[in-house]
Amino acid sequence: MELGGYANRVARIDLSSGAVSYEEINEEDARLYIGARGLGVKYLFDNGPTVEPDSPDNMLAFMNGPLTGSQATMSGRLAVVTKSPLTQTVTDSHMGGWSAARLRWAGFDALLFVGKSDKPVYAYVEDGTVELRPADDLWGQGVHSTVEKLQDRYGTPLSVMTIGQAGENGVRFASILNEDDRAAGRGGTGAVAGSKNLKAVVIKADEAMPRPQDREKWRSAHQRALKTILDSEVLAPRTGGLSVYGTNVLMNPVNALGGVGTRNSQETQYDAAEKISGETVRETLLSSDPTCHACPVACKIEVEIKDGPYAGLKMESLEYEPAWALGANCDNDDPRVIAKLIDQCNDYGMDAIELGNVISMYMEATQREYVTGAGLSWGDTEGMVETADQIALRSGIGDHLAEGTARGAEKFGHPEIAMAVKGQAVPAYDPRALKGEAIGYATSNRGACHLRGYTPASEVLGIPVKTDPLAWEGKGELLKIFQDLHAFSDSLDLCKFSAFSEGAEEYAAQYEAIVGAPITADEVMTVGERVYNLERHYNNLCGFDGSDDSLPERYLTENGSGPASESVVELDEMKAEYYAARGWEDGVVPDSKLRELEIIS
Ligand code: SF4
Repeated sequence: MELGGYANRVARIDLSSGAVSYEEINEEDARLYIGARGLGVKYLFDNGPTVEPDSPDNMLAFMNGPLTGSQATMSGRLAVVTKSPLTQTVTDSHMGGWSAARLRWAGFDALLFVGKSDKPVYAYVEDGTVELRPADDLWGQGVHSTVEKLQDRYGTPLSVMTIGQAGENGVRFASILNEDDRAAGRGGTGAVAGSKNLKAVVIKADEAMPRPQDREKWRSAHQRALKTILDSEVLAPRTGGLSVYGTNVLMNPVNALGGVGTRNSQETQYDAAEKISGETVRETLLSSDPTCHACPVACKIEVEIKDGPYAGLKMESLEYEPAWALGANCDNDDPRVIAKLIDQCNDYGMDAIELGNVISMYMEATQREYVTGAGLSWGDTEGMVETADQIALRSGIGDHLAEGTARGAEKFGHPEIAMAVKGQAVPAYDPRALKGEAIGYATSNRGACHLRGYTPASEVLGIPVKTDPLAWEGKGELLKIFQDLHAFSDSLDLCKFSAFSEGAEEYAAQYEAIVGAPITADEVMTVGERVYNLERHYNNLCGFDGSDDSLPERYLTENGSGPASESVVELDEMKAEYYAARGWEDGVVPDSKLRELEIIS
């Protein structure tokens, strides 16, 4: 292949037979879909969209992009792409840390797993080869002890991407963790690994940064991207809000907008938000602020609990999403308990956003007397910790709740109390207060998600322009731009937070210098649009259409609180605007659009 940046080596691992084969990347696919998310969805599409998520036929793809493991800032991301057992859609979930870089340094762009092993195995990756090795002694272990055992066995530095007991037990929102605490959290990727008896991927590699194709261009592209970060009020190391407080810097400003869903989104302002905010966590619990490969921002928040029942616990990372999901949403105002619950998620391998929502749904079911037995009351922190254990182990009520928020509410006979879209629970921005997120959650290709198109950048932070969070007009068009831009950066694969300071120009310059192929800013947006439409096409072939681009009734009929106290979501109007911007017909990509984007010929 002529293109630079890539290792140009992909491993296909058939877990049923144990066979491992190697191939090069199709150059045309690399030009059209770039890598990571985009190329991963293409591999999934070619594998057939109609497979059952937990069947051996489903593919589990660990995907790098052409910038992964290079000097590019924030280039330590890896995408796990599969068909989700939670949403039945294609999904991609990204994780930071060093596993992505180490996979590239070990000589791979992608590992594609299909089939199902008879017995638990892990994949050992080193020097351009993949070997399957027995994992009987690791099965049943949590993430932290699995990492420790493998590091004892192979020494450090070593990257381990692994599932915990939740993935083994088929919890529908099980995640895959690397570096102990960095999660490919959403969509149930860990449940797919568990269904294949794949415990872990272990990578041994020394640093070997790929060289740019054009060194002169690279120097200037790199400096330019770095300067935007250093000049950013959000990202600047040691002074930017994200660098100082982590993502939980958002708790107070989003709450001020009336956007922090409280008690399962029955209200949208939390009176104890300050107590669980990034500012309080920094003041009372922070022990260090780790980073990922090639990132000067260092937004991760490691905390140490000094008193109370969880004294001595050291964990990362106390982020905004779990602080909301396991805090305000469950009426838990104790950041030490939030830290404990996140640590349970990291060790069992579960999505903290889904866990918070499934617990808050269970609490509302208790409040409304929909459950038999004692149930779980708002703010019962001990009960929350116990319920998290039960879910991961599928014991007692945990077996019911392990099915996720939407299925769990359905089983209580009250689907209306599930704050979920396409089977996946909502993140931390109440859509009645942030209308960009309303259309974003409804139309996301992987179920409710803030990261498909991060419109709070505009509505909260004024990036690239400030828009009124309560206004719906124009948000469909704004969302499309964010979705397409992120689909490109997720395909490079750069951290989503790069978009706080970089745009299509900066992405194009870095791609061009490392890969050695010309690309314009407009073409960046076209590639993003292509990736987004391929995902939608995949979902359409699975039976999804505009009727699935919906929101929980609560957001359409019940007002929020504070500034959102007279606000509900104007869903029909927003969908019409968004579909017009996309050129879709009732949520379905027409053949003419597929042809225009070269998805079909
Ligand atoms: S901004 Fe945060 S999550 Fe993103 S690469 Fe840097 S440390 Fe990792």
